[in-house]
Amino acid sequence: MANLASDKLVLASHNAGKLREIAKLLEPFGIEVISAGDLGLAEPKETETTFAGNARIKAHAAATGSGLPALSDDSGLEVDALDGAPGVYTADWAETPHGRDFSMAMAKVQNAIVATGAHAPFTARFVCTLCLAFPDGQDEVFRGEVEGELVWPPRGDKGFGFDPVFLPAGEKQTFGEMDPDRKHGMSHRAQAFRLLVSRFLDG
Ligand code: IMP
Repeated sequence: MANLASDKLVLASHNAGKLREIAKLLEPFGIEVISAGDLGLAEPKETETTFAGNARIKAHAAATGSGLPALSDDSGLEVDALDGAPGVYTADWAETPHGRDFSMAMAKVQNAIVATGAHAPFTARFVCTLCLAFPDGQDEVFRGEVEGELVWPPRGDKGFGFDPVFLPAGEKQTFGEMDPDRKHGMSHRAQAFRLLVSRFLDG
């Protein structure tokens, strides 16, 4: 069984919502979690066209910059009526000159779906790739997905990003309404994390 060979891990993300969720998932393992932002590491440009490619860029930048194992998360929302958009560009749909605005981004996605003439259910999935990279250049990538549909108006303020419009399959509450522990039991991030745990942290 591979192991982390370190009791410290850098989280290669500057996204507060992701940091909160990943820190919570790591809590039971007694690993000290340091964020890339706290170490003053710059956020690298995400120049790849796949979740895995961008996750690797972020994790390697943080592992090289810190000399510690680093964990990154590249994730996004794939909408079937939009042929998989916004996908790897999910965060970009929220960009404004004054920072990210997810109310605007959720409205943009709704408008784009309406423009296609598609009918509900507007099936979609959240995808998460986690990359664990080591200072010696090795890495591994883990992918998780959760299927669901998009609903409007947005519901709930417990999550982040697109959570208020994402209704997981078979559920009555959106990720925005759901108790965070319940989201952590089923989310794309939790599923990718489970794979990482069985490879590096179990036993
Ligand atoms: P990136 O991985 O930094 O490129 O950004 C991914 C974007 O996908 C985030 O900014 C969120 O908008 C969205 N996203 C990823 N995971 C979640 C989630 O668990 N809930 C809601 N939105 C998410």
